[in-house]
Amino acid sequence: MIQDFAARLLAWFDRHGRHDLPWQQSINPYRVWISEIMLQQTQVSTVIPYFERFMQSFPTLADLAKADEESVLHLWTGLGYYARARNLHKTARLIQEKHHGLFPNQLEQLEALPGIGRSTAGAILSIAFQQRAPILDGNVRRVLTRLYAIEGTVSDKNTQNLLWNLADQHTPEKRVADYTQAIMDLGATLCTRSQPQCSACPFQTECLAFHNQQTHAFPQRQTKKALPIKKSFLVLLSRPSGEILLEKRPSNGIWGGLWSLPEYTGEESDLTNWIFSKYGFSLESLPKKLPAFRHTFTHFHWDITPYQLAISSCPLAVSENDQQSWFDPQKPKALGLPAPIKKLLENTYTFNAN
Ligand code: SF4
Repeated sequence: MIQDFAARLLAWFDRHGRHDLPWQQSINPYRVWISEIMLQQTQVSTVIPYFERFMQSFPTLADLAKADEESVLHLWTGLGYYARARNLHKTARLIQEKHHGLFPNQLEQLEALPGIGRSTAGAILSIAFQQRAPILDGNVRRVLTRLYAIEGTVSDKNTQNLLWNLADQHTPEKRVADYTQAIMDLGATLCTRSQPQCSACPFQTECLAFHNQQTHAFPQRQTKKALPIKKSFLVLLSRPSGEILLEKRPSNGIWGGLWSLPEYTGEESDLTNWIFSKYGFSLESLPKKLPAFRHTFTHFHWDITPYQLAISSCPLAVSENDQQSWFDPQKPKALGLPAPIKKLLENTYTFNAN
């Protein structure tokens, strides 16, 4: 199958592949890179409007390098995995400084940039530079592990090496850009995680997982451990003029560099004492408890209980600076807000933060 795999895949792609995605138009390394980073852990349909807005704001690498991090994070609000946005921004600046604004076209140079791994580098090299370079994203891993019924979890080093070897062996010398798009399309449209459409697949006769009726068993997943649960309170503090206090999260860690609400991790009964000792605020009324909700990250659940409260006067200690900001729901600023915080603010104060 290896010998004619690419030719058969390309024949399928010519008839059934996706040819009109926004990043397939006006192809250049910058557009390919942005789309590849956005598509990590995120579906095409979600990415399209984000990609288009991003390109409107930062049509070139130079525009992105010149931007401040705040506006990049703002455009990323809702896409999640915000380290991707911070790395994009860092990488744009590095390319400007170290590569004179020219996108590198060597694997080692690309892999040395923040946020670019071997698979993303392979996609940039093949799609934007027409170089033969394999990719191994989640779609390709799924296709290969099923075709060859490869056992072992994909995080296992030996399995990874085996998959990279196979990815390399299947990659053709010609039409490399189309091939990269084609293998991603096969995984995204036919060889989907649940209920793959094997009857429409050009490799049904050779596919071992299909033959053994075990498509659901590949790729093998690590047995999931129960995620730990973190609990804390988020405080919606409004001052008499109606603005709400936001604080910037530390750049390392959850929601790094984004604007969020003050977080309190102590005993619920001590919440008002904490507010007084931290900010010197006296409250106008008793804090109002809002419905709790859970936000799940890859490594823990966060059970959040929001409290809404109003202060009667605003001490000078809480001023506008790069770590604290008063957010006016009537005139929402373009800030990088995590999606759950944006939603909480919008629901509580009835506005739209776009
Ligand atoms: Fe995937 Fe089914 Fe094709 Fe096998 S036959 S590669 S499981 S779509």
